[in-house]
Amino acid sequence: MSEVSTKKICEENLMSQEMSEEIVAVRDMVNRFMQAEVVPVMNGYETRGEFPRELIRKAGEAGLYGAVFPESVGGSNMGYLAATVIQEEMARNDVRFSSCNNQQGSTCPSCIYLGGTTEQVTKYVPNLIAGKTIGMMSLTESGGGSDAEGNMKAFARRDGDVYRITGQKMWASMANETDVGVLFAKTDRDAGAKGVTAFIVQPKKYPGWKAEPIAMHGLSNALRTNVLFLDDFVVPVEDRLGEEGEGFKIIMRTLQAGRLTVAGKALGVARACFEDAVRYANERVLRGQPIGRLQMIQSEIAEMAIAIEASRVLVYKAAQMMDDSQPSNRIAAIAKYHASQTAKLCADKAQQIFGGYGLAKEYRVSWLKSYADLFFTGEGSANVQKIMIAEDALGYKMADRHHGKTGLRDIRKDDVAADLSKS
Ligand SMILES: Cc1cc2nc3c(=O)[nH]c(=O)nc-3n(C[C@H](O)[C@H](O)[C@H](O)COP(=O)(O)OP(=O)(O)OC[C@H]3O[C@@H](n4cnc5c(N)ncnc54)[C@H](O)[C@@H]3O)c2cc1C
Repeated sequence: MSEVSTKKICEENLMSQEMSEEIVAVRDMVNRFMQAEVVPVMNGYETRGEFPRELIRKAGEAGLYGAVFPESVGGSNMGYLAATVIQEEMARNDVRFSSCNNQQGSTCPSCIYLGGTTEQVTKYVPNLIAGKTIGMMSLTESGGGSDAEGNMKAFARRDGDVYRITGQKMWASMANETDVGVLFAKTDRDAGAKGVTAFIVQPKKYPGWKAEPIAMHGLSNALRTNVLFLDDFVVPVEDRLGEEGEGFKIIMRTLQAGRLTVAGKALGVARACFEDAVRYANERVLRGQPIGRLQMIQSEIAEMAIAIEASRVLVYKAAQMMDDSQPSNRIAAIAKYHASQTAKLCADKAQQIFGGYGLAKEYRVSWLKSYADLFFTGEGSANVQKIMIAEDALGYKMADRHHGKTGLRDIRKDDVAADLSKS
């Protein structure tokens, strides 16, 4: 089968859901960008283990990180559906490059936007979403990410005009490259979640920061996650986000959107696996016919297509609900759970269809599985999503109980321009 007709199968069969012209245009723009700027060179960055700073700047310039931010800070204000489609399309083309999307366009700038003063927002957010500075969001510690607050040992001690943070953070993605990040530490060890404070951190400017990249199986060698050692690391008081004790509120609100962006990426990985599997099943000839003619291979292809379509409906629905300012914590958890399951299923089936070649590094289906596993864990593990969904269903704890009550900025509605015009 020709390249063109395989592409037709992959794109048209899986695009049956109605999309507005605007969203289709965004998807096509991202695809063009990835094909022109990233796909031809990303293997080189991986081989060299080189951080693709210049590519991130180009992606920022193309608007790939600013979809949920207002124009006054350099965003496009297109919304969560657009942001999700961007994540999906980037991950479908090269999920390794999309490893920093949260740091540039979601959790890091969102924390600053939600919890920061107008001055902090205008100082830091535009450069992050433009890809000019590299972001980071560090919440997790080695004691366990699913109970981030309960296990938090990093402590920020007030010392005049600065805080000095000491402790160790785990899985701090991009901490070895970051210019401006957000880090969470306790300011009161006995106050539970109300003892957690958020800080804007600038490791290139202040002493006490050491990031060590972690060797990971099947994940990017260019965009790394780290163990982070903090030894009296300095943060000026003016770089605290919100008041002392407001950190947990800020990160919980941010993670809702973070879950959605991970769901978009998982959908992109599922599609990459599906497209590679369809292409291979049409090309690989055994006993005189393409293996795609074998019914057991068809069964695998059908299951992948069904799962992807179902995930897409959920993920886009969650994004649309967020755009409409509807309570969406529960639906975001459902979408993230389903999409990460779909990514795992598709990665597994694609690898089987490739036979032995599915284990060779040369074929991306051999390592896409590691990303599917990551999406199952990161931004709230699968069990944590299920607990939230079940407790809501059982009436023990409503997932959307905080909707509209956090008192934080609303990224889609509040425009810092309004604040600035008052000052
Ligand atoms: C590559 C990578 C990049 C990352 N990047 C970042 C980053 O940039 N910033 C950041 O802050 N963090 C980051 N993380 C951390 C990530 O968010 C955590 O890994 C995640 O929150 C899970 O925490 P954990 O790995 O400590 O697992 P644990 O919390 O120890 O969980 C272990 C297992 O127990 C299960 N479990 C937990 N609680 C329950 C329960 N109540 N009931 C039943 N089962 C339960 C979990 O589902 C999981 O299967 C990253 C992780 C990875 C692997």
